[in-house]
Formats: sequence, structure tokens, C-alpha cells
Amino acid sequence: MIETIGILGGGQLGRMLTLEAKRMGYRVVTLEPLPNSPCGQVADEQIVAAYDDLRAIGELGARSDIVTYEFENIPLGSVRALEAERRLVRPSGDVLRIAQDRMLEKTFVRDAGCSVAPFAGVTDAAALARAMREIGFPAVLKTVRGGYDGKGQWIVRDEAAAQAGFAEANGSALIYERFVPFDLEVSIICARGTDGSSIAFPITENRHDRGVLSTTIVPARVSDVVAQRVRWVAQTIGERLGIVGAYCIEFFVLGDDVYVNEIAPRVHNSGHYSLDATQVSQYEAHVRAICDLPLIEPRLFQPAAMQNILGSGMGDHLAGIADLLIDPGLKLHVYGKRHAALRRKMAHFTVLASTVEDALARAETGRAKLSWTDLRSPSLAR
Ligand code: AMP
Repeated sequence: MIETIGILGGGQLGRMLTLEAKRMGYRVVTLEPLPNSPCGQVADEQIVAAYDDLRAIGELGARSDIVTYEFENIPLGSVRALEAERRLVRPSGDVLRIAQDRMLEKTFVRDAGCSVAPFAGVTDAAALARAMREIGFPAVLKTVRGGYDGKGQWIVRDEAAAQAGFAEANGSALIYERFVPFDLEVSIICARGTDGSSIAFPITENRHDRGVLSTTIVPARVSDVVAQRVRWVAQTIGERLGIVGAYCIEFFVLGDDVYVNEIAPRVHNSGHYSLDATQVSQYEAHVRAICDLPLIEPRLFQPAAMQNILGSGMGDHLAGIADLLIDPGLKLHVYGKRHAALRRKMAHFTVLASTVEDALARAETGRAKLSWTDLRSPSLAR
């Protein structure tokens, strides 16, 4: 019987997962390198340790009936160590291995019969020259491992830019991808149980700002053909991976074609809206999937827009909240992070409305009401 869920990672995804798991009656233990993490603040217990501290990882396993993770840059060795001790880890280390390596991931997607932008591995100067010749420009150079939110990524329009990115990567393995001149970016969150049952959330339309998600709109404004393709790819990849838990697949949409950008074997930023806009959230769906509870098909109450609130580096106090909360269809979620560093994900809000256009407009209005100020220095508090 599962009573305690262990979570590797202590960010906002872990926090929302914990709040939902606790609502459902579970205990939660989290492991994170920093004390007082967003997840640690709400968990029953927190282990403060590095992700590769195998003694601490063993402790997490011993205190939990099942272990899951809220981001994919957990060292694979830590998950493998838990599995070697016969601890239940969902999704499994085999899934994590593929999702944390862009080369394995893209190859897996292609082999599953799903479209990806043409890509090639770049480990040395000769491979870079070959990639530039065969794939051409514009392209995106990305680190194979460890990148997120646009970090470790260079858009390259010519050979000089590609060489500069290659030099900056300083020997890290890279992937060279054709730049997709997409019409829009969408994602879908699914959840899959041990018995192979699966559910899918509505497709969302995602807007990014310099590689970081800024706004999610649901339902995505895509044709039936695109929607069908997205759902088919998500189902196919979930089955082929044999994943247990919630997962997200991000796509580029170009005309009627969909290209997989990324697989995240976890709850995802583009699914935050589900806390307020569907009768079952992605977090609850994940808990249900990993704890062998029935999966139910999500139902969208109303069109919605989710707005991320990123730090500006100009102060740690979020001003304008009272004005924001005037909107009766708006729900604010704040993550409990002390410092609002530049582009750090600090909070989000979701607006429900009768149309996506209205939800989006109100999200933009709401965002404009907010600013970061430094309460300690009144001269900066504008
Ligand atoms: P990623 O970290 O791979 O999710 O990339 C972050 C963002 O960079 C994406 O959401 C896109 O907006 C952009 N991007 C990444 N790869 C490509 C690509 N091959 N073509 C066009 N845009 C891309």
C-alpha cells in the first residue's frame, strides 16, 4: 500500500504535486539540495542533500513507498540506485535515461514514427562541420544534457554563430537541430497507469519569452488534423516508453505538421492551468497514475490562460496583487521563493473566461498590473 510519496526535486512543480497528494491523503517526503524549497515548505518531511548523495537518496527510498521526480535533470545513477534496492520509482529510470538526453530522446521519437526536426549529434569540430553542411541554417545548437528554459541553447544563423556556440559550450556534447519556423508551439499532458490505461488533457498553446514559457492558452487554437496528430504522437510515445505517471510532450506546429520538441516525463509548467480549469489536475493525475488509482478523463470547465510571473531582479516584493485579484475569474499561485532573481519562475495565475481570446486579454491585463519592487529601498519601489 502506498502511504508516503518521495519526490526528487523541490521546485514549484513538486510543491503543487505535494499539495494535491496531501489533499488526497498521502504523506510526502522531498529531497532537494537547498533548505526551505517551495516543495519542502509544504511536504511532511524534507531531506536536504545533493541529488547524487546516494546515502540521502537511500534515505528517501527508505522513508517512501514510491519515489517520483519533478524535473528530469536528476542524476540517472540516483534513480538506478533506488531501483537496485527494489524501491518503486515511477516513471522508471529507463524513461528518465531517454528524456534527459536530447540525442536519445530525438532518436527515440523518430524511431517511433513521429516527426522531429532534422538533427545531428555534435561532439567535435568535424561533426559540427558535417551538421552545418547537412542540416543547414538557421539551426539551434543545444546541450544534449542538462539544458532547460532555453539555457544551454544557441540559435545559429551562420557558420560563425555556430562556431561561437560550439566554443561557448566548452566541450559539452551538443545536438544541432534545424530551426523550425513554427506557426505556434503546443503541448499535451497525458498520464498513463501501470495497466496501460491513459488519459490526455486538452492541448495547450504555449508562448515563450526567450526560451522560458510565459503564457499557456487552453484549448489550443489548432485544426482537427493537428489535434489528432498531437494526440496520436502523445499516445504512441507514452506506450513505447511504457511510462507510468504524468508526462508532457511539446510540439512545434507548422501548417498541419507537428514536430516533437521535447518529452518531459513529469508534470509540466504548461499544465498549471489544470489546477483551476479542469476537474482533475495534472498533479492529481500523476498521483493517481503512480499510486495505481483510476485515471479519469479531464474535463475543461472553461477556456483558460495561464500566465507565468517571472522575477525581474529588481526586488523580491510582488506589487499589484490587490489590483490583480479584482478579476473574479482569476486564481493566483505563489511558490514561496524568497528571491525574485531575473527570469526566475516565482508565481503564476490562471484566468477562466468564455473564450480563449478573453482569457488571454485578461491575463495580459493582469500581468501589466504586477511589478517587482524592493521594499527595503523606497527609491526603487516604482
Ligand atoms: P527547449 O529547451 O528545447 O524546449 O527549447 C526552448 C524553446 O526554444 C522552444 O520552446 C522554442 O521556442 C525554441 N526552440 C528550440 N528548438 C527549436 C527549433 N528546433 N526550432 C525552433 N525553435 C526552437
